[in-house]
Amino acid sequence: MTGLVYKSTGSWYTVKADDGALYECRIKGKFRIKGIKSTNPVAVGDKVAFELETIGDETIGVIHEILDRKNYIIRKSVNLSKRTHIIAANVDIAFLLVTYNNPPTFTTFIDRFLVTAEAYDIKAVLLFNKIDDYNEDDLMEVKYLAHVYKQIGYDCVELSAKTGHHIDKVKSMMEGKVSMFSGHSGVGKSTLVNAIEPNLDLRTASISDQHKQGQHTTTFAEMFDMSFDARIIDTPGIKGFGIVDIEKEELGDYFPEFFALKSECKFHNCLHVDEPKCAVKDALEEGNIAWSRYKSYLQILEGEDENYRTDIYGE
Ligand code: GDP
Ligand code: ZN
Repeated sequence: MTGLVYKSTGSWYTVKADDGALYECRIKGKFRIKGIKSTNPVAVGDKVAFELETIGDETIGVIHEILDRKNYIIRKSVNLSKRTHIIAANVDIAFLLVTYNNPPTFTTFIDRFLVTAEAYDIKAVLLFNKIDDYNEDDLMEVKYLAHVYKQIGYDCVELSAKTGHHIDKVKSMMEGKVSMFSGHSGVGKSTLVNAIEPNLDLRTASISDQHKQGQHTTTFAEMFDMSFDARIIDTPGIKGFGIVDIEKEELGDYFPEFFALKSECKFHNCLHVDEPKCAVKDALEEGNIAWSRYKSYLQILEGEDENYRTDIYGE
């Protein structure tokens, strides 16, 4: 039989079978996914094939196969093994909550998030939250920022998790999909999830408190069903996702507005930095590419992402 992994503790996996029944499963033997050296072979969001085994009066599931993954999100483990940890698999939408201030979300953070989503092949949506809370000037800035990202082709929603403004839009985007919510601590993730599903108590909700207490947060994700046709993967302790290893030459491919111009650059392997007749730099000069985007591009290209790495994981 087949089912979806909703939760994992490292050795046990909670799998919801296609008929809706929940099974506690183990992994058969030591099977490993080809090409990925991870600390956890099976992740939340995985679709798996399993058999039931009865030992005494206990029935457990034994996972013997992982069905094809559409995508997966990893974090590099910081311990000596240097192995990766698969945070979640088969994510349809990665929502990033953004606030202009209180707390500030810098465009470099947004852009790194988007680059990673592109590299992972996950649809990213920007949620500009606390729209009820801005003065006129700040609101202009938020609208400008949303405009920049909409131009590139990203879906953007201006919302208020507090007043409920545009929550319906977020819900309709979630319909039939598996979603993840990211963003700095304090941007309103738990408030939003609460507005979407009042009776759901995600661990996301307690992350900021745990931070205050200086405790370490678990990185095992968990999937939850909504009361409407949607699922959320909760990833405690993770504010965004790290930059995957991207070659310098391919970085521009993950900035869609750069990628669109690539064929017009004189050199096919143009890095859009010092090369002559660069269509990206021309577009920048003409105001068709936002400076903030180009600045983020240069920063990532130059590998100034060490701070970022510690920053997004918040530990
Ligand atoms: P999290 O750390 O991302 O989960 O953020 P929280 O949901 O805990 O929200 C942090 C603070 O921002 C809380 O005091 C919320 O009440 C407030 N907040 C969240 N969403 C909104 C919003 O849309 N408008 C306003 N004015 N405050 C909000
Ligand atoms: Zn170029």
